[in-house]
Amino acid sequence: MRNSLICLIISFLAFSTAQAAEIEICGKLAEGELVHLKSATATKAFAEGREYTFIDGGAWLTFPRDAKAIDLKVVFNNAEEKTFHLDVAPTKWDIQSIKGVPQRKVTPLAADEAEIKREQKDVGTALKSFDVYAKGWQNGFILPVDGVISGHFGNQRIFNGTPKSPHSGTDIAAPEGTPVKAAGDGKVLLSGGDYFYSGNIIIVDHGGGLQTIYAHLKETKVQKGDAVKKGQVIGLVGKTGRVTGPHLHWGASDNNVRFRPHALLEVNAQNCKIYQDEEKE
Ligand SMILES: [Zn+2]
Repeated sequence: MRNSLICLIISFLAFSTAQAAEIEICGKLAEGELVHLKSATATKAFAEGREYTFIDGGAWLTFPRDAKAIDLKVVFNNAEEKTFHLDVAPTKWDIQSIKGVPQRKVTPLAADEAEIKREQKDVGTALKSFDVYAKGWQNGFILPVDGVISGHFGNQRIFNGTPKSPHSGTDIAAPEGTPVKAAGDGKVLLSGGDYFYSGNIIIVDHGGGLQTIYAHLKETKVQKGDAVKKGQVIGLVGKTGRVTGPHLHWGASDNNVRFRPHALLEVNAQNCKIYQDEEKE
């Protein structure tokens, strides 16, 4: 009797541990992708030196362009910590050669330095200024503009024969003046600027660490601090900054890590999978 009672207690404890030490992950575990972590009992997650906060049972996580595998440490509400080892599938990155770029945008003059610094500072500050507790993302996302994809996220780009950094967003070609819609509900963190590379840019914070970026706009129709709704026209397609023709550069960021923007539209359609920590058998 005593033995079976102990056995029962042990199985109960093991069962409780199993309940606490699992996490559901929705989306593609691949370089440059976004996934949604789900757990009713997790409070925080840590990966690659970044901290993620679970809100309403979920947290967004991005695998950087060069991620191979990550150790995801999850803290549960009973203070238990578990590390999940996640293998990150490689993504095939294309090389894109772009010709006809104004040469000054490829090899800037010394006189352009101050302008480039202004852009880096303003854009960098906005991308770090996300409000993880805001919940705009819960209303879902749409494509900001219809058009042909003319440049994929993550491409290694060669401008006028000079290799440059990988593409931080997806380019959607559309005629100049085409309305650009907010991809989701959120708050405007940056609008306008006429920057050296981005031209006129809008950055919208959707909460949960998620932000969307709209660059090379002809015109912006919102101001910093404005609340925007999904589908609201926020600007017009243009050819400002480093471009060869009119298009929308659509970017997406999670906790200040860029990912493939279309993942915002696909992540809920992906299969979700339960992961359990390795110690428990
Ligand atoms: Zn682009």
